[in-house]
Amino acid sequence: MQFKDLNIIPDIIKALEKESYLIPTPIQEEAIPVILSGRDLLGCAQTGTGKTAAFAIPTIQLLREEKESHGAKQNIRALIVTPTRELALQIYESFNTYGKFTDLKCCVVFGGVSQKPQEEKLKQRVDILVATPGRLLALIDQKIVNIDHIKILILDEADRMLDMGFIHDVKKIIARTPLKKQTLLFSATMPPDIAKLAGTILKAPAKIEI
Ligand code: AMP
Repeated sequence: MQFKDLNIIPDIIKALEKESYLIPTPIQEEAIPVILSGRDLLGCAQTGTGKTAAFAIPTIQLLREEKESHGAKQNIRALIVTPTRELALQIYESFNTYGKFTDLKCCVVFGGVSQKPQEEKLKQRVDILVATPGRLLALIDQKIVNIDHIKILILDEADRMLDMGFIHDVKKIIARTPLKKQTLLFSATMPPDIAKLAGTILKAPAKIEI
């Protein structure tokens, strides 16, 4: 099995080849077709399994396809919520790497640094936003970020967000998103609070365990 057998568009294949990625990891092989089909997903996977590309590649492709059929959009269409600044930056870099031959724009926001430069970046077009929960909520409350029109919501490392005390912020963020969307939830472990959250926010999800 190679990436080109997964119905991935040539612009992404070209970016993967530049990174010398030819063979999908097991989670990529399983998750990419599910996500491209539009289904919700519950993924039990650790960092290091290729999880980031497993959600970034199909997200880029879905947004590209939507863009081609509906013309340019002004809104944030994919939101990735992750617990730490380091993870947020890694995910942001992955989207830029795999999407480098598309014109999709990705932006990253996280706490612990001045908000001003992030505000400036958010004034430009943003298709994909990667964020940590606290800063994201602050930006939403200040009406600097609008997530009313997102098509894809990705919760990354949900168990760590729980451990770090972000679960209430995450729930508030989810409540601000439209009902009709595709949701992907990734967690290395499945404590009861995360299983409960998954049960309430995911619609008939595919389940993948790596
Ligand atoms: P992640 O689990 O998303 O943190 O990814 C772990 C590491 O594997 C990252 O450094 C990726 O750049 C790399 N990686 C992801 N997918 C592939 C692949 N299909 N082939 C080779 N390396 C990969």
